[in-house]
Amino acid sequence: MFISKSKYLNGLQCHKLLWFYYNAKERMPAFDAEAQAVFDKGHEVDKRAKQLFPQGIEVTWDLGLDKGVLASTKMLVLRRPLFEAGFMYQNTFARADVLNPVDSDGWDLIEVKNRTRVKDVDINDLALQYYCYTGAGVRIVRCLLMHLKREQFGRTANVPDDAFVCEDISDKVIAASREVERNIAEMLAVISEATSPGIAVGPQCEQPYRCVMKKVCAEG
Ligand code: SF4
Repeated sequence: MFISKSKYLNGLQCHKLLWFYYNAKERMPAFDAEAQAVFDKGHEVDKRAKQLFPQGIEVTWDLGLDKGVLASTKMLVLRRPLFEAGFMYQNTFARADVLNPVDSDGWDLIEVKNRTRVKDVDINDLALQYYCYTGAGVRIVRCLLMHLKREQFGRTANVPDDAFVCEDISDKVIAASREVERNIAEMLAVISEATSPGIAVGPQCEQPYRCVMKKVCAEG
């Protein structure tokens, strides 16, 4: 079993949420229209940001996980920006928004976000990626969060090239990556339990994301 970056973030938010994803997904409500609109906007911003790497090539995942990882590994030798390159290490799997080549064998890891500042969840997101990629043998030089300038946030058309800034958050990401192995071990133990953890609705249900399980948990 492996934990992807989105599930790692779910696990940090709430172990009960994580347990449901792996053991009772059919009991989880679908995302509502508001949440879906946020995802859609995020994909638009991702797409626009990737246009700033005109030499970039996207890894396709149509043929499944193993073939996607194999293709990603083969594409490293091209030394071109890679979109959605994915790797596995121990019990983790992650795909990078952008890996941008640096020097002869290094890569800047770039996470694109539809926001105007770095949040803790971004550091944890990149920490899992850093742990996974470095473990898989990809040399990461810097970890960058690429987000919108405040005055450009929410713009839907004609987003200029200079709408984005890249913040170097490598130090915080590397520090957080040291916790990944322990967190993953805890998460795997939770997932293997026969029943979900008895966690009550609380502040964790809203941060960093509004949890889709709120109604289910509130009804017991
Ligand atoms: S609604 Fe709250 S308690 Fe229930 S799974 Fe989500 S975060 Fe956990």
